[in-house]
Amino acid sequence: MIKTFDEVTEFHGHVCPGSAIGYKAAKIAVEELNIDPSEDEEILAIVENDSCAVDSIQVVLSCTFGKGNLIFNDYGKGVYTIIARDKDKAIRLAMKNSFNPMKINPKFGELKEKERNNTISSQEKEQLKIITKEVCDYIINMPNEEIFSIKEVEIAPIEKANIYKSIICDNCGELTAEHRIKEYKDKNEYKDKKLCIPCYEEELKNK
Ligand SMILES: [Zn+2]
Ligand SMILES: [Zn+2]
Repeated sequence: MIKTFDEVTEFHGHVCPGSAIGYKAAKIAVEELNIDPSEDEEILAIVENDSCAVDSIQVVLSCTFGKGNLIFNDYGKGVYTIIARDKDKAIRLAMKNSFNPMKINPKFGELKEKERNNTISSQEKEQLKIITKEVCDYIINMPNEEIFSIKEVEIAPIEKANIYKSIICDNCGELTAEHRIKEYKDKNEYKDKKLCIPCYEEELKNK
């Protein structure tokens, strides 16, 4: 059973188009990859933004930072790659340029603007609540291809590997997740160094 949008809202704290977009993405992933997140399957999510949408990914797909199956690439893009590791299958969902939640209901954008400028009346506030819910329902039920470009993608070896594996940074000696280790070519040393990101950046500065 897929978690409901109400369950997402309980976790996220408010109803918003962002969490509806994330809910839609998670729902598509469940259908396309034919997975059951409640069965503790090997699902890995790579998200390219840290917006409201990601909370839905966490709740619905049970991908969390704590479990290590949520990877955040800070690219500022509406892109979600969901990987079913045990099935060797992955899909990439990229939000379409043509999709604009503000255009679903013109009143929504108008009231949001008033809310931002603090010129919204209490009556309009109530209206905005109702419209927001409607916009979210619309997003969740709209045809998949109207919101996302959906394609199957190859899984990179790093994403197949056990992402919990850590190695020791050659400079600071601290344990670092292997997929975050950088190779550094040091002219004065005989071998390449494996460095954590802060140490790598420090080396580049001192070059
Ligand atoms: Zn939100
Ligand atoms: Zn280090």
